[in-house]
Amino acid sequence: MQNYLFTSDIFKGSRYEKGHPLDMDRVWPSVELIQLMGWIKEDQIIKNKPAEIKELVKFHDLEYVQALKKAEEELELPEHLKRKYNIGVGNNPIFSEVFSRPASAAKASIKAVEMIANKEAKKILNISGGTHHGRKSEAYGFCFLNDCVLAILKALELGFSKVLYVDIDAHHCDGVQDVFVHNENVTIISIHEKNRWPQTGKLEENNNKNIMNFPVSESFNDSEIDYVINNAVIPYAKSIQPDLLIIQAGADMLNGDPQSRISLSNNAYWKAVKDILLLCENSIILGGGGYNPYLTAKAWAGNWTLLNDRSDLLDSNMTEECRNLLASLKWNNSRVRRGIPSNWIKSWRDQSTKTSVGDEVISLVKNVLRMKNL
Ligand SMILES: [Zn+2]
Repeated sequence: MQNYLFTSDIFKGSRYEKGHPLDMDRVWPSVELIQLMGWIKEDQIIKNKPAEIKELVKFHDLEYVQALKKAEEELELPEHLKRKYNIGVGNNPIFSEVFSRPASAAKASIKAVEMIANKEAKKILNISGGTHHGRKSEAYGFCFLNDCVLAILKALELGFSKVLYVDIDAHHCDGVQDVFVHNENVTIISIHEKNRWPQTGKLEENNNKNIMNFPVSESFNDSEIDYVINNAVIPYAKSIQPDLLIIQAGADMLNGDPQSRISLSNNAYWKAVKDILLLCENSIILGGGGYNPYLTAKAWAGNWTLLNDRSDLLDSNMTEECRNLLASLKWNNSRVRRGIPSNWIKSWRDQSTKTSVGDEVISLVKNVLRMKNL
């Protein structure tokens, strides 16, 4: 049975407004890197259309979805609707694909669950997914819809009863946790930077039976994420025996990302994804945050090799075409004012640095395990 990658042409040429952290390309460059490296066959790529409204209202309010569609059609919304739905306000700007783009990401996540339920696939990558802040009737944190929630709801509808959602984005998955906090069929695990927006995912929230949160400080390093995954996430997740695994693989904990202070190498990021993947045969990897286009495109392209149990491919030299593609990406950020650092665009793997596990992380893991009676 082969593995699949979902994408859509809508991600090529669609950007948030100028100056927004998502005023850059991440999804299509990830897909092209995979293709340029020869890591995928054409028939493993599925291009999907936006989800239909009837699919979106399984979670979102109809009036909200209609307002989002209207915002796309008219590139404007009446002031009272903007305020009511947080669309076109703050960091959730109205742009020309403001409905179709998140609806395409959502469709891919829903379809991925359907394919796994129908035994047409076991492992699927939806790079465009991972919009974990989206609310039932409100845009939040750059997310207009919540494909993670829609995918989990679809999984429950199709008979999965032990859904495991693991989120390694630098930001806590508040939009997912809020929906499933009291649902015993869903387990939510998140590792995220503490004292960072949206300020949820605190240690005390581990008192909820099916929630495991690791709020970590900005010094969180490569050895520490490995320690958390192998000493707490894996033992806990194994005790659940999940029948479906969804990984939100946001890449904003990587060293060089402007939206977090954490500085992991991609070696640690990929090892985390690889170890988590072993937890369940039925797995979907999503994207999520990731605001450095070079690092994010490499991280997400690399996830395709992990999904195929071919992490050895990440030790390959990066081809000239891939280097050129990365070098051509435009990023309006002071970090590249003097040129793009060569390690971002010349090789797959970051340099590994030797680090040790600090007392703070050891004590965090101990506390979380105690709260989970492990
Ligand atoms: Zn994030």
